[in-house]
Amino acid sequence: DRGLMWFRRDLRAEDNAALCQALTQCRQVWCVFVFDTAILQPLLDRGLTADRRVEFIHESLIDLDEQLRALGRSHGTEGVGLIVRHGAAVKVIPRLAAALGAQAVFANHDDDPYARRRDAQVLGALAHAGAVLQTYKDHVVFERHEVLTGFGRPFTVFTPYKNAWLKALTDEHLRAHPVERHGDALAPCPPDHPPGVPALEALGFARTNLRELRVRTGTRGARALLEDFLTRIEHYHQARDYPAVKGPSYLSVHLRFGTISVRALVSTALALHRQGMAGATAWLNELIWREFYHQILANFPHVGEGKVFKPEYDAIRWERGKHAQALFAAWCEGRTGYPLVDAAMHQLNQTGYMHNRLRMVTASFLTKDLGLDWRWGEQYFADHLIDFDLAANNGGWQWAASSGCDAQPYFRIFNPVTQSEKFDPQGKFIRRYLPVLAKLPTPALHAPWQADAAVRAAAGVTLGRDYPMPIVDHAEARARTLERYAVVRRER
Ligand code: FAD
Repeated sequence: DRGLMWFRRDLRAEDNAALCQALTQCRQVWCVFVFDTAILQPLLDRGLTADRRVEFIHESLIDLDEQLRALGRSHGTEGVGLIVRHGAAVKVIPRLAAALGAQAVFANHDDDPYARRRDAQVLGALAHAGAVLQTYKDHVVFERHEVLTGFGRPFTVFTPYKNAWLKALTDEHLRAHPVERHGDALAPCPPDHPPGVPALEALGFARTNLRELRVRTGTRGARALLEDFLTRIEHYHQARDYPAVKGPSYLSVHLRFGTISVRALVSTALALHRQGMAGATAWLNELIWREFYHQILANFPHVGEGKVFKPEYDAIRWERGKHAQALFAAWCEGRTGYPLVDAAMHQLNQTGYMHNRLRMVTASFLTKDLGLDWRWGEQYFADHLIDFDLAANNGGWQWAASSGCDAQPYFRIFNPVTQSEKFDPQGKFIRRYLPVLAKLPTPALHAPWQADAAVRAAAGVTLGRDYPMPIVDHAEARARTLERYAVVRRER
């Protein structure tokens, strides 16, 4: 009758499957979050001591702690809150469960390969002490093997998956887990395990520019973003492709850390979709893409460990060596000479976010213009995206590299200049992130090296001094890429 709720990527005290189960199955429930050194130490070892995600989690935990305190108080219990630990989760959880006398630990599924291994270890350690780990679906509407083809196999193509997903959906799948009704089971924290969130610095991390960026954290932040998005959602299908426009929801980081319930978002989208709102239909489609990549990772876990989805793409020989390293550094630092690519990389480096269209453009540029291994880009995104999600990031990269399921065919190669003209037609986005080019007239902004030298001079731009010459020629790179990918056809 004593339970421990272990929060991971579900940082909210409302509509939370595992929390609701803990509260209904146990008479006394404590809540814990572990800053897992197995995840954080490798970052610190690489010198990545300022990480927006760690800060986002940290701020969201303060919010979660308050939510739990308020929930306890509304049921007449003082001293409820979130116990926060810093250590190896595989050790901390079994120890804390034993110390509290909890026979069951409750958590929500996490299908990342690391998380699966960790949970198997925790399960083993708990079993040793006669306790159990009970896990639930929470992060997606349909998981793992829930939506399968007629042959009982996982889908590897999006559209039939989406159709089957929509067909399988009932109101029951979207019903909120009524946590608030069962708050009476929340127990006060004992004096030797007090609630409260330690300072960020105590974890070895420094503050980032999260606050200056006004990134809204926690459930409160997610709600505010959703409210704002609902005033724009009807234009989503038109606005979503233009990085200079406030088109998308910016909720990805909240979905990543579970500060908002995906069921609530799908319910909202579905209701508007049923009223015939095109923007809501398009947005629902993206939420289903998220689910699609999650079931890919769950059913084909090798993709999450550096492997291609389609093995014939292993035959590709990517550029290696010093020159390749230099090209990669230029891509990372936004010095490729292609303004849209560079502006996008500056957005990522300065804010931890990158617009979806630009993720596609920069990923295509890395693999198909620079001939570099998509895994390099995947890792860079993994290190810098605040919404980094293994399933979606890997899906996106393998899509761009053409090695993924339902990927971009390898001969479809984005032209970074035409993409720029089409999706940043007034150059507003480029000017925002590359102020050095701001005075160039718009037509010159998309490909400054093609502009008249006099035009550049008038705008105060000298190529090679203020802004680089392009590091590759797109037409030549395209031809090289087609050759590089020709091995794939031969392998088939
Ligand atoms: P919205 O347009 O408002 O979309 C709503 C939600 O749908 C998003 O929050 C996200 O959860 C989901 N979604 C949207 N597009 C996709 C997609 N293509 N695949 C899967 N889910 C999607 N998304 C991540 O959440 N984390 C990542 O690490 C990530 N890496 C990516 C890497 C590449 C190379 C590419 C091409 C895409 C990647 N995406 C990733 C998908 C997408 O770019 C982001 O989800 C989106 O830009 C987030 O902004 P938003 O919340 O405003 O999206």
